[in-house]
Amino acid sequence: MPSYSEQFHAGQLIFAEGDAPTGAFLIESGHIEISTVQFGERRILGELGPGMLLGEMAVIDDSSRTATARALSDCQLTRIDAGQFAERLATADPVVRALLLSQLSRYRSALAKLTGGCDPVAEIALPGDRDVRAIDKIRLESELRAALERNELEVRLQPIEEIESGTIAGYEALIRWRHPQRGDVSPAEFIRLAEETSLIVPIGDYMLEKVCDVLVKLRDRGRKPLPFIALNVSARQLDDDALVDRIIGMVRARDLPPSRLKIEITEGLVLDQTRIAPLLERCHAVGMPVALDDFGTGFSNLGPLLTLDFDQIKLDASFVRALDRPRGVAVVGTVVAMARALNSDLVAEGVETREQRETLHRLGCRYAQGWLVGRPQLLDQILNG
Ligand code: C2E
Ligand code: CA
Ligand code: CA
Repeated sequence: MPSYSEQFHAGQLIFAEGDAPTGAFLIESGHIEISTVQFGERRILGELGPGMLLGEMAVIDDSSRTATARALSDCQLTRIDAGQFAERLATADPVVRALLLSQLSRYRSALAKLTGGCDPVAEIALPGDRDVRAIDKIRLESELRAALERNELEVRLQPIEEIESGTIAGYEALIRWRHPQRGDVSPAEFIRLAEETSLIVPIGDYMLEKVCDVLVKLRDRGRKPLPFIALNVSARQLDDDALVDRIIGMVRARDLPPSRLKIEITEGLVLDQTRIAPLLERCHAVGMPVALDDFGTGFSNLGPLLTLDFDQIKLDASFVRALDRPRGVAVVGTVVAMARALNSDLVAEGVETREQRETLHRLGCRYAQGWLVGRPQLLDQILNG
C-alpha cells in the first residue's frame, strides 16, 4: 500500500466549493463525485476515477474551489503540492502557459453561467491519454517531498584516500533515498527530478546540515587531522544567491574550520563562468575549497580553467577505466601535469583495482576515490571505524 497517499472513506468530503486551493490530488484508487451548487440547487458534474487528477484547476490559477469533491467509495489519493504545478507553470513554454490559462478562465466563466445540460467534468480531469511518464514524475516528486519531511533521505560518506600515505583524507557526501516501496532510488534519478523544481534547495540544505553534523561529531571525537567532507552542489542550487551565505553561516555557527567543508560543482556547470566566479571568490575569501567534479566529461575546451581557480579537480571515472590502455595513461598523465601546474589537487574517481591505484600513484595523482578505497558508508561505520 503506498505510504505517501491519503485515505478518504466513502462519503467523506475531500474539499468544498469556495475552499482555498491547498493542493491537488492524484487518484490512486476509488471514485470521487464532483458537484456544485447552481442557483441554490446541488448539481452533480460527474465522477473521477483512478489515474485522474483532482482539484488541479484551483491550483493552476490559485482560485478558490469551484466544485465540491466527495469520496463515492473508499479512496486513496496522492497529494500534489500546489507549488509543484505553480513552478512548472511559471517555467513552462509561455505560449503553452497562455493557452492553458486562457482555456481555464473561459471554462470558469462558462461554469459560472452554467444552468445545466453541460458536462465540464472532462475538463476537470487532465485531458487526453495522460502521459504516464509525466504522472509518474509527479508522483515521485510528491513522494520525494514527503521523504524529505520524514527524514527518509540518508547521507553516505565515501572515503577519499591520499595515495602516497595510504590515509583517508576526507569523504564525499552522497545522498540515498530508501523508498519504502521502490527500494533504493538512485540519486542520478531523483536529483535530476529535484532540480527541475526548487525541491533541490531544501534537499541541498538538508545535506549541508547533515554534513556539518558529521564534522562536529568527528571533531568532538577528537579525530585529528579532521577529514574534509565534500558536498555536491548542483546547477539549480546556484540560482539561489543566499546559498553561499547559508553554507558559510552553518560552518561558522558550529565553529568548524571552513577548510573542512568542500564544495563540489559539476563540470557541465562551469561553462557558466559568470555564476561560478563569484562562488569561488566568496568561498576562497573564507578559506573554503571548491572542487571541479566529473572533469573530462562536461566541456570540450579548457577555457574555464583559464579563469576559474579550483582547489581540486576530480577526474571522471571513465578516465580511470581507460588506464589499462597506453592512450588512457597518456591522457591521465597529462591531466596530472595540468593539475599540478594549476596548483590544484587531483582526485581520481571510480578507482576499483590495485592496478589503477598503482598507475595513478606512478603518474603522480594525489587522491583516489572508489570501491577499492571504500564504498559509500553510513555515518556510524565511520564514527566507529
Ligand atoms: P558523483 O558526484 O560523480 O559521485 C560519484 C558517484 O560514483 C557516486 O554515485 C558513487 O557511489 C559512485 N562510485 C564511487 N566509487 C565508485 C566505483 O569505484 N565504481 C563505480 N562504478 N561507481 C563508484 P551515486 O552515489 O549514485 O551518485 C550519483 C550522482 O548523484 C553523483 O555523482 C552526484 O552528481 C549526484 N549526487 C549524489 N549525492 C548528491 C547530493 O547530495 N547533492 C547533489 N546535488 N547531487 C548529488
Ligand atoms: Ca561529486
Ligand atoms: Ca564525480
